[in-house]
Amino acid sequence: MSSAEITRVLYMDDDAGLSRLFEKKMDKFGYRIALARNGQEGLALFKEGEFDILVVDYKMPGLDGLQVIEKLKEAGTLPPIIMLTGAGNEEIAAEAMKMGASDYIVKDINGNYFQLLPLVIDEAVNRYRLAAERRLMQRKLEAYAAELERSNRELQQFAYVVSHDLKEPLHTIMGFAKFLTENYQGNLDMQADECLQYITEGTVRMERLINGLLDYSRVKFNRTSLGRVNCNRLLEQVIHDLKSVITRRNAVITQDSLPTVTGDERLLRRLFQNLIDNALKYCRDRRPEVHVAAELRGEDWLFSIRDNGIGIDPKYAEKIFLIFQRLHSAREFGGDGLGLAICQKIVESHKGKIWVESQAQNGSTFYFTIPVNSGA
Ligand code: ADP
Repeated sequence: MSSAEITRVLYMDDDAGLSRLFEKKMDKFGYRIALARNGQEGLALFKEGEFDILVVDYKMPGLDGLQVIEKLKEAGTLPPIIMLTGAGNEEIAAEAMKMGASDYIVKDINGNYFQLLPLVIDEAVNRYRLAAERRLMQRKLEAYAAELERSNRELQQFAYVVSHDLKEPLHTIMGFAKFLTENYQGNLDMQADECLQYITEGTVRMERLINGLLDYSRVKFNRTSLGRVNCNRLLEQVIHDLKSVITRRNAVITQDSLPTVTGDERLLRRLFQNLIDNALKYCRDRRPEVHVAAELRGEDWLFSIRDNGIGIDPKYAEKIFLIFQRLHSAREFGGDGLGLAICQKIVESHKGKIWVESQAQNGSTFYFTIPVNSGA
């Protein structure tokens, strides 16, 4: 509570002497105090004004302290309340707490309880304010998460619709370019033939990009496909799928023992496949040597895929994870710049992180984490 905030206290007691004493004793604590002579008057005052806390005597004519709490609950607002009870009224105090009072104080004849009151008042008001702030923060967080989910869904849908609908006019162009090539190539002048070739190449490239976009938008994490995935077996399958390139490049793939993680098997397989495929591809004339490892790091499994290839200039370390971003021409190395963007989507949907550490010409190590509890 900041010093600028004045605590507004509503005190309900039918004993006029005690009410005045309360006002006097609390004066030096800087509260703004309103007095009510009974429960009805207190409830009316509470309705009209704004109070941070109610100090309510249990024993009052008309409505007693517990009935005041009941009425407040019925009205849908329960501010911090401190119940004042007489000695031997522990049951009433317990009942008040059960009903939602913040605290209670037993009145003693000597009036010692006045010393305790400001402590109890401040503590209850602070607790209430903190809880209200926490609730507000929680609501904001929930609203933010819902908005993020909505905009992600919208983006996915947008990418899908755009890529799907773009294909139709593209196929029309491709069809007519093919028709012109088959029926008129050689009958036109050289320049027209060349133009036709550019149109055909451009449309083929565009179709590949659209297919890539569609593919990217379809990479979806499905909680229902979550299961235990044995990464040793997964790697075995990936190596089997890449057999022909491994044999052609005479590549060596080694591995440490890998863990079993919680995840979407189909997506994790694609993740390993993309990373190992790149490790084999970006090697130029060297014989590819790839090593796959994993270790437990705090709450995460940290996987690494190390190669001895051409490496990556650290200034491109983030750019390569963006969709369609490539560091080489298609003539040098084939590809569409989609593989790592898909890897990032897969890792992040498992609540992990992916990054690369490398020096140009000196091999690269791709790291990614999968939380031990990624299914939680
Ligand atoms: P693609 O391989 O189709 O180009 P990726 O998204 O998989 O698409 O990779 C993006 C770029 O990152 C590649 O074009 C390449 O320049 C670089 N890259 C990826 N993996 C490696 C690697 N293991 N070694 C060196 N460069 C790499």
